[in-house]
Amino acid sequence: MKTAVFSTRSYDECFLKAANQKVGHELHFFEARLTWHTCRLAEGFPAVCVFVNDQLDRPVLEKLAAGGTRLIALRCAGFNNVDLRAAQSLGFTVARVPAYSPHAVAEHTIALVLALIRRLHKAYNRVREGNFNLEGLLGFDLYRKTVGVIGTGKIGSLVAKAFLAGFGCRVLCHDVHPNRELVQLGAEYVRLESLCAESDIITLHCPLLPETYHLINETTVHYMKEGVILINTSRGALVDTRAVIRGLKTGKIGGLGLDVYEEEADLFFEDLSTRIIQDDVFARMLTFPNVIITGHQAFFTQEALEAIAAQTLENISAFEQGLRPPGLIEVEKVLAGQL
Ligand code: NAD
Repeated sequence: MKTAVFSTRSYDECFLKAANQKVGHELHFFEARLTWHTCRLAEGFPAVCVFVNDQLDRPVLEKLAAGGTRLIALRCAGFNNVDLRAAQSLGFTVARVPAYSPHAVAEHTIALVLALIRRLHKAYNRVREGNFNLEGLLGFDLYRKTVGVIGTGKIGSLVAKAFLAGFGCRVLCHDVHPNRELVQLGAEYVRLESLCAESDIITLHCPLLPETYHLINETTVHYMKEGVILINTSRGALVDTRAVIRGLKTGKIGGLGLDVYEEEADLFFEDLSTRIIQDDVFARMLTFPNVIITGHQAFFTQEALEAIAAQTLENISAFEQGLRPPGLIEVEKVLAGQL
């Protein structure tokens, strides 16, 4: 099927081309992000393949529909960037890759926690400069600390299990659908306020929905323990960045590990190293010694990219054959809060 692939980077092209050898779709690769300004590129393509920061709001979807596009194949799990109501009313089929490698994101989450609490980002630079002084590098043991996991689906449950079994932590969870297996392993489900009040480390793994927008805000930060470590590898807008900056300035937040940022669409996946960063909020975060930011790379492993490419093409093949794509997003269920 003729497919316009937006936001293409070399690795997308490489993994999609390799997986496409078996199925033979007509893939056209565009570096541009899909926005109102670039959607003309998709004219005449029955399918578009998009990523996390492509913009599929109503005006873009209307333009795509007018150009003959009928399938939106997301090569990611999250779909907060798609106006599903508009997509439904315009007759689009929307498919995603719901589970490619939850391990990739869970392991990156743990890497951020360990790097922050053992100050690896500082130590790395010091040693390279011949500075072997330990002042300022004091960490703490994870053993017996309390970890709060918000959202215990595929990724959050792996993170919870690693902290329970691997590090001997007490794990508190918060989710609208508790996971019985985690309870049997010793995790406790609690209200959000209790999780915030009791956790030494808080990590976010719920989707971005209207009800989770700015879940971490002035009020939730207020409930948190002094010096809490906060990790977000889920979606940027779960966190009110300004509230978190105020928390960092007072010391209430003792460490921040981010793989996502609410305004990341203008920054991430680009080499901006010779440009001036115009986002003052992001630039302020970079000044803190206890903040580690990675540019939405938690998914970025060999295994995950192979699975994403294979499952994206499977969705396209099924649609082309008039079948239900395995990663179909059932809009009714999402809108009814059942997904
Ligand atoms: P999942 O659907 O398996 O799990 C999400 C969990 O969040 C579910 O258990 C759900 O019940 C829960 N949830 C929903 N609303 C909630 C609320 N209001 N409060 C608390 N919990 C709530 O999803 P997953 O595969 O574990 O992925 C989690 C998120 O990770 C995705 O939504 C996506 O945004 C993000 N993600 C990030 C990357 C990355 O590279 N950084 C990669 C993949 C996924």
